[in-house]
Amino acid sequence: MTNPLSTDAMSQQHKLERLQAADKQHFIHPFTDSKGLAVKGTRVIERAEGVYLWDVMGHKLLDGMAGLWCVNVGYGRQSIVDAVSKQMQKLPFYNSFFQCSHPPAIELAQKIASLAPAHMNNVFFTGSGSESNDTNLRMVRRYWDLKGKPSKKTIISRVNAYHGSTVAGASLGGMSGMHEQGDLPIPGVVHIAQPYWYAEGKDLSPEEFGLKTAQALEAKIIELGEDNVAAFIAEPFQGAGGVIIPPSTYWPEIKRILAKYDILFILDEVISGFGRTGKWFAAEYFDLQPDLITIAKGMTSGYVPMGGVIVSDKVAEVIKQDCGEFTHGFTYSGHPVAAAAALENIRIIEQEKLVERVANDTSPYLQSRLQQLAEHPLVGEVRGVGLVAAIELVKDKSLRQRFDANVGVGTYCRDACITHGLVMRSVGDTMIISPPLTISHAEIDELVAKATQALNDTYQHVK
Ligand code: PLP
Repeated sequence: MTNPLSTDAMSQQHKLERLQAADKQHFIHPFTDSKGLAVKGTRVIERAEGVYLWDVMGHKLLDGMAGLWCVNVGYGRQSIVDAVSKQMQKLPFYNSFFQCSHPPAIELAQKIASLAPAHMNNVFFTGSGSESNDTNLRMVRRYWDLKGKPSKKTIISRVNAYHGSTVAGASLGGMSGMHEQGDLPIPGVVHIAQPYWYAEGKDLSPEEFGLKTAQALEAKIIELGEDNVAAFIAEPFQGAGGVIIPPSTYWPEIKRILAKYDILFILDEVISGFGRTGKWFAAEYFDLQPDLITIAKGMTSGYVPMGGVIVSDKVAEVIKQDCGEFTHGFTYSGHPVAAAAALENIRIIEQEKLVERVANDTSPYLQSRLQQLAEHPLVGEVRGVGLVAAIELVKDKSLRQRFDANVGVGTYCRDACITHGLVMRSVGDTMIISPPLTISHAEIDELVAKATQALNDTYQHVK
């Protein structure tokens, strides 16, 4: 950290004030309360390396969120910079509409097909996770039209799911705060209960609650009529909703229901894809057979925006048959520079065996270290899978009783984390971590030590 009295520090302070003033005047931030922003000013991050960030004032932060769940290979990868620069010089842009293609997109589609579950061998490229879920909505409806079942239009999703922020993405998602703005969801999207045992399980065991919430899918299919349902969409574990990992009975029961009814299954792996669970895709981790997989984030480790949908052979055969255009696509679908970044990102993950490292080494270490925090008087539950975890902050552990929302305990803890040099996100009073897949044991120790300090501060504050 810079000495606060040095000339360097004063010029950085001046720079920060200038940036914050311009930010306040001109920048409309996504998912940001402008009032809070006006009081505190933005945190301006200037550079990053490995698992660390530095803000304009030189404060070093351990990034426990990998940016926004995306920087899987960590920051400062020169080989991605080189791949992108080389591609920009050779072919900075060309489209993939109207029978056109280019080598990076072709190679990336082939590469992803080789990593995806065996029955999934096609990719539709987009620019983000949200665009990918818009694509899913259009693709499943197109699929059923072509199958001669045009009444199959409705998509079943879950309360508190996050599937993006476009009109279709936010509709597919189940965030009430998002639905309240913009008259969402759009027609043809319905939501069932989420498998959030810690918050909603009441007196049921996790296993009983898992079964019960899964059976809501069958009840909804019967209520709507199988002939009207196109698909079920779900995250393997809800990320933005609070790292909600379904009880062990949930996915087997969902699988039974999906096998019984003729509807498609969209698995949203925007967070879980590309190694986060210790498998390339969480479909393998949870033993699921989706028809479509949503991808983004870890696909390029966020170095360049890119998303996509991995399409099963069953759906691809229908969409690609000789039946006219699928009238859907984006200027940047399969962007050559993004594809070059993705190919290099995947090469790094393979070369450094990051997926295996998560499965056999860093995930067991992180999860066991985090379990020690469950002893803390403020912590009701610690849960996790791979390199993602949640810490529930509660008033009364034995009753699973939360603090009043106006106490803002999660926000306080998040700010205390920053004071101690750690980025952890809060979803209400649930603290979330999802660090780069490259994190070492020493860095995990540092993360847990900083989180403990933040929990202690928060406990002193609410005691
Ligand atoms: N789906 C899931 C599960 C996500 O977590 C996100 C973003 O966090 C999205 C979709 C939307 O992705 P994007 O922000 O790239 O549009």
